Amino acid sequence: MVQQLPARVGDELSEVDTPALIVDLDAYERNLGLMASIVGDSGKALRPHAKTHKSPVIALDQMALGAVGICCQKLSEAEILWQGGVRDILIANEVVGKRKQRRLAKLARSMRLTVCVDDIENLRSLNQAAEEADSIVSVLVEVDVGGGRCGVTPNLAGSLAAAAADSPALRFAGIQAYHGSAQHLRSVQERQSAVAKAANLAEAAKADIEARGLVCQTVTGGGTGTLLQDIEYPIWTELQCGSYIFMDADYGRNRDTRGTPYALFENSLFVLSSVMSVAHSGKAVLDAGLKALAFDSGPPTVADRSDFIYSGPSDEHGTLTIPAHEKLALGDRVRLIPGHCDPTVNLYDWFVGVRNDRVERIWPVSARGALS
Ligand code: PLP
Ligand code: MN
Repeated sequence: MVQQLPARVGDELSEVDTPALIVDLDAYERNLGLMASIVGDSGKALRPHAKTHKSPVIALDQMALGAVGICCQKLSEAEILWQGGVRDILIANEVVGKRKQRRLAKLARSMRLTVCVDDIENLRSLNQAAEEADSIVSVLVEVDVGGGRCGVTPNLAGSLAAAAADSPALRFAGIQAYHGSAQHLRSVQERQSAVAKAANLAEAAKADIEARGLVCQTVTGGGTGTLLQDIEYPIWTELQCGSYIFMDADYGRNRDTRGTPYALFENSLFVLSSVMSVAHSGKAVLDAGLKALAFDSGPPTVADRSDFIYSGPSDEHGTLTIPAHEKLALGDRVRLIPGHCDPTVNLYDWFVGVRNDRVERIWPVSARGALS
């Protein structure tokens, strides 16, 4: 079954069917431009992360403003980005298993494709898959710079890099030094200190690699939360920010130097929901629950109404607690700022792009559900 579109181009916002994933195009374009200019001025390359948007349309918007290529997290996302015309992709992640590596090696025939490794056996089987496919796969050694997820300790980077450089179907391209858990540290001081440590670890890994006579061309990492710290460190040649195009309620809890909310980028992503019941006073029930929003980073906030509190989500409903003197009516619209943008986007088939309360552009979340 093909689902109905939530709206048509030219519709008024009030006509959009709910729940719907709304992009405020003015804010989105300001975010795109601001990131391009901050990273451009820093002399680093920008390779935005498509895990946030899962959309070749947005990837091409980013590249039109100077991004050198795109990151994604999954091979199936890379395949869909390729279908949409992106020809330089970093899978900023490990790809494990024969079947996937065969797919990856095949894709690498028609584009510049880079992947991370943190294991010698994985590297060997990747080389074998690339040899069999007659392709060249670029490889970054992933280094754990504090996130405690994937990645080797810096002292093991050199031996993996040497193995990559010795593999006939692999091209050693550098290291990935991404510090995920630093992004949502709330104070600037905490983020600053995490990034300083990450930079030291990345420097140590690079030194270990260069001691073997290898060139460590790319050092990639960084994210939306640590952007202003990352650009201060020469070690990173490339930044992978993703959430900046949309932002979310969780990023809204980060603080800047003055202790005010980190508001360099604007909320451009909203879940538009409708009131479906006002049977209880002091409450309104919305049509957006667990299947319409991601809750891993907390509930959504209500745009422009800090006195409305979203609480008590169930599968298809969300309860709003509202002040006793407030009245909402059936069908009233409420704009929600998702707690976490990336997994919320993955719940929708369509982006509905809106400007001046009118639908201007509708495009698919093409890599929705692309998990393999
Ligand atoms: N790079 C990697 C490897 C990631 O996993 C992520 C997000 O989780 C990012 C970059 C982008 O981070 P953000 O969305 O906070 O900008
Ligand atoms: Mn995220």
